[in-house]
Amino acid sequence: VADKEKSGSVAKIKVVVRKRPLNKKEISRKEEDIVTIESNSNYLTVHETKLKVDLTEYVEKHEFVFDAVLSEGVSNDEVYRETVEPIVPTIFQRTKATCFAYGQTGKCWRSGKTYTMQPLPIKASHDILKLMHHTYRNQGFHLYVSFFEIYGGKLYDLLNERRKLCMREDGKQQVCIVGLQEYKVSNVDTIRELIEKGNATRSTGTTGANEESSRSHAILQLVIKKSVDGNESKPPRVVGKLSFIDLAGSERGADTTDNDKQTRMEGAEINKSLLALKECIRALDSDQGHIPFRGSKLTEVLRDSFVGDSRTVMISCISPNSGSCEHTLNTLRYADRVK
Ligand code: ADP
Ligand code: MG
Repeated sequence: VADKEKSGSVAKIKVVVRKRPLNKKEISRKEEDIVTIESNSNYLTVHETKLKVDLTEYVEKHEFVFDAVLSEGVSNDEVYRETVEPIVPTIFQRTKATCFAYGQTGKCWRSGKTYTMQPLPIKASHDILKLMHHTYRNQGFHLYVSFFEIYGGKLYDLLNERRKLCMREDGKQQVCIVGLQEYKVSNVDTIRELIEKGNATRSTGTTGANEESSRSHAILQLVIKKSVDGNESKPPRVVGKLSFIDLAGSERGADTTDNDKQTRMEGAEINKSLLALKECIRALDSDQGHIPFRGSKLTEVLRDSFVGDSRTVMISCISPNSGSCEHTLNTLRYADRVK
């Protein structure tokens, strides 16, 4: 979209929708695929079945348009090309870029957030390392990775036995997470291992249930640093950052009426952070001076990614089955507001 191309040739904000295929369970339950995507188009239609007062059924169509719409046949490689690949070179030019995966994560109706998100930092670091070894060879660039989660408004290091962390602002609009493990990486295999390790730590959490990961935001950051004046003995300074965020299940924000107090509190926290995130992205796009990042821990942590030359990609993951219709519409409406 032309008016979004405010800084150079890469859009400042890009909103992409990815639909997953129907799974075996849904097929065996004879659920219908209610999301249609015209090939090579950037719009989709949701067919919602409703009841009239006389209890006869009718279908209401909802049409949405996004920067890109990816159907169930699209591979993870294509998702990468459409979303993250174009922003990789910008992080060598001081850009802070963020890629979010948004969508429902209910017990039976998972929308494909983790499936979509997990390969992206691996592919990105492959390209980053290639740039470092060729285009930017011998220029003192280094790549670092960290991986943490926000659970119930608190930070935990996923690469250091889920150690609790705290955040500090350093007075220069930079966010500093005290004690966060940062690994220097020089090959893709290391990144892959660290991501697997972090994801395992995330999903086994404290209760050992996968259920937990649906209530936390997982944040993986690739940081490019450069040595000062070519001096390798001094600590290098941060040049650019690429953050990948596997957000808590969007439907978890609605857990605010649950009987369990803990669940209610977590639901409220998730709700707050997803709302704050939407506000921050919208503020970013309107180029207004004030970014309301203080609205939640998530947006506070991402503060330095919302100022200056930043890029945002939102990947909204949706389920195709009729049983997920309401969640799918909610996800698309959220994405529509961010756009
Ligand atoms: P979420 O993180 O949103 O809860 P997952 O990414 O864990 O959901 O996906 C749930 C299941 O669906 C996984 O078994 C995953 O392999 C499968 N899946 C998700 N998206 C796709 C896709 N686009 N193509 C094929 N399988 C998918
Ligand atoms: Mg997940």
